[in-house]
Amino acid sequence: MQEGAIASQGEEAQELDAAKTPQPQTPGLVCPHCRGPLGRSDAGYDCAACQATYPIHEGVPSFIEADEFYETRYEPGAINLLPNEGRFWNRWLLYFVSLHYLWFVRKYFNRPGAVLDVACGGGTRYLTTRGPVVGLDVSLNSLKFLHRKGWYHESVRASAFEVPYPDESFDFICAKFFFEHVSPETKPGLLREFSRLLKPGGRLIMLFDCDCSNRLWQWAKRDPDLFQSAFIENDGHYGLMRPSETLELLKAEGYKVLGYHAANKTSLVHLPMLGWLGAYKSKSRVLRLVLPLTDAIARNRLLSTAYTFSVTAWDDIMEPLLPLDRARFLLVACERKS
Ligand SMILES: [Zn+2]
Repeated sequence: MQEGAIASQGEEAQELDAAKTPQPQTPGLVCPHCRGPLGRSDAGYDCAACQATYPIHEGVPSFIEADEFYETRYEPGAINLLPNEGRFWNRWLLYFVSLHYLWFVRKYFNRPGAVLDVACGGGTRYLTTRGPVVGLDVSLNSLKFLHRKGWYHESVRASAFEVPYPDESFDFICAKFFFEHVSPETKPGLLREFSRLLKPGGRLIMLFDCDCSNRLWQWAKRDPDLFQSAFIENDGHYGLMRPSETLELLKAEGYKVLGYHAANKTSLVHLPMLGWLGAYKSKSRVLRLVLPLTDAIARNRLLSTAYTFSVTAWDDIMEPLLPLDRARFLLVACERKS
């Protein structure tokens, strides 16, 4: 979804509502290493306790070094959708964007609160309807882009394993297409960091790619080398896990699962995976016939939106009929136990 794809109707209505509701407290930065208070100088932030200094680049506090892969791999994508939810049509849009991700935000981030958006890219404007949003990413390029928009309270370059905010700073944490980039052995540590940051009863929403028994996925795996280059290394997806394993991990780390949506259980998959299958053209006549068609759909905004909406509706029909682990994507909402 590109920036400005959907007009931001009803902005005034949203602002009026926000004026009536007491605004949640805005979280303040601390040193990510020792959690000491930070002093501010012309050059950036410094920690009196551990002597660390952190620069600010064009309004973006920076707590880690540049990551070459993520700095250049993605364009800073933004979702500029801020609908008037009084209208059915607009609620319907929320339902269809990003495999129900915004719908889950609407449903499970169900009160005013401070939000941490992990791997925020260019930002998701709808999150600002809940309260002040902190955007965290490793790409300075994306964060500068987000900072210039002025949607979020803060855009911060930091590690999701060492977030520069005190304990219990946030009511909500969300992470879209991030969890699959985190290796399985470090996932528990990440979930503990999220627990530290969440207030008791705070909520976490994540959407991510999964390892799965989807038939098309299993077919692609039959060539392990090609699978590794086209499906894993291409996007840095080193942390793929089965949906069922992920739900177990969340429970083991003390989260209560409130709801989930398991998408792409059939061979009718979202367009990016069809793009990855381009590497397999020499292996299948069917792919040689189908891929030019799906490439054309991907290049046309109207067609790709229609395709995405159709797959999303199809996913809803198929979800209860097929096993959980067939799903290529898992969207999950959970709560930190008090
Ligand atoms: Zn420090």
